[in-house]
Amino acid sequence: MLYIHIPFCEKKCAYCDFLSFKSDDEETEAYINSLNIELIQKAALLKNHSPKYEISSIFIGGGTPSILDAEYIYKIFDNIYKNFSVDTDAEISIESNPNSLTYEKALSYVKNGINRISIGLQSANDEELKMLGRIHNYNQFANSYDEAIKAGFQNINIDLIKNIPNQTSASFKNTLGKVLNLNPSHLSVYDLIIEEGTKFYELYNNNELPLPSEEEQGKIDEALYSTLKDNNYIRYEISNYARNGKMCKHNLGYWTDVPYLGIGLAASSYFENRRYKNNINIKNYISFWKSYNNQYDNLYDLLSNTSIENNIKDLSPKEIEQNLMNEYMMLSMRTIYGARKNYFHKKFGGTIESIYGKVLRSYSDYIIEDDESFHFTDKGFDISNQILSSIIL
Ligand code: SF4
Repeated sequence: MLYIHIPFCEKKCAYCDFLSFKSDDEETEAYINSLNIELIQKAALLKNHSPKYEISSIFIGGGTPSILDAEYIYKIFDNIYKNFSVDTDAEISIESNPNSLTYEKALSYVKNGINRISIGLQSANDEELKMLGRIHNYNQFANSYDEAIKAGFQNINIDLIKNIPNQTSASFKNTLGKVLNLNPSHLSVYDLIIEEGTKFYELYNNNELPLPSEEEQGKIDEALYSTLKDNNYIRYEISNYARNGKMCKHNLGYWTDVPYLGIGLAASSYFENRRYKNNINIKNYISFWKSYNNQYDNLYDLLSNTSIENNIKDLSPKEIEQNLMNEYMMLSMRTIYGARKNYFHKKFGGTIESIYGKVLRSYSDYIIEDDESFHFTDKGFDISNQILSSIIL
């Protein structure tokens, strides 16, 4: 799998702690140039390492990828197709925001082979959008959704946020109603999290953030689960719902232990059981790749020497193994498939039953055990964060 990070946004949303910021034309151009160099270099080393490896999914995420001029996306895809082998059935997704997604851009994505688009709506209520610091209103979103359909997209995700300040179950139901009228194949519905360093964090600490009461949050959740179930959306991950089998292959890959290469600022990679994170400083990132002179001749060296973090620093082999097992449990349990017994045994030698069985079975009202896996019930999904934090070794 391949992930490409575009860190640019027009304005920072009040709740956002992602690495995203406004950029000018010069910096954008330099960034895309460096990103293309990184992409070509990693592709060449991947080919040396595994000549037959085929990319099963590509995800262009952000930030706001739709902020880029279409020509940059063309250039990136030209390099992807020339340098990687991409599976003919690959799922290729791009994230977008309503204020920058035009018909022309959507059409250029389709021409590049992009077959899935995600549009960040967050709420269909303009007051709530303002509160979140979003720079679009509902009508702009509805237009961009139409443009994506006209351009040929059939697989569309809409991102929503719940428990927004001043949100009520009635306004949330109204958002759901409007969204379901559009008939999207996929919905991602995330809880608002108050992250340090955001505008919301400050307001929250000053008691100036009117979050819905616990009771109201319960009603919002109830409305979400029952409405989506009634409309044939399958909750296949804690926050993700799909119709007609249109689950996001790429995200499922993250949760089911599929390796991936990350390209771009702060992008993460997972290769041969090790995790890496790219540079987070844009100036350093741009200048490193601009002056890159093929100093690494295998992918492992390139990833190890260019990452600012990896998951094996200063750890013993036993600790590394334990971390990998915990990660597998935490990620795989997020999905309806759960933690797979055979897969775990093949990968780690031990069994899930002997290592995590006792604690998993203590949640028998929330976790189902069958011959193949341990997985959450619907009720279990609702309190999965609590349960997952208790199973870590
Ligand atoms: S558009 Fe997305 S990435 Fe950009 S600031 Fe808003 S939430 Fe963050």
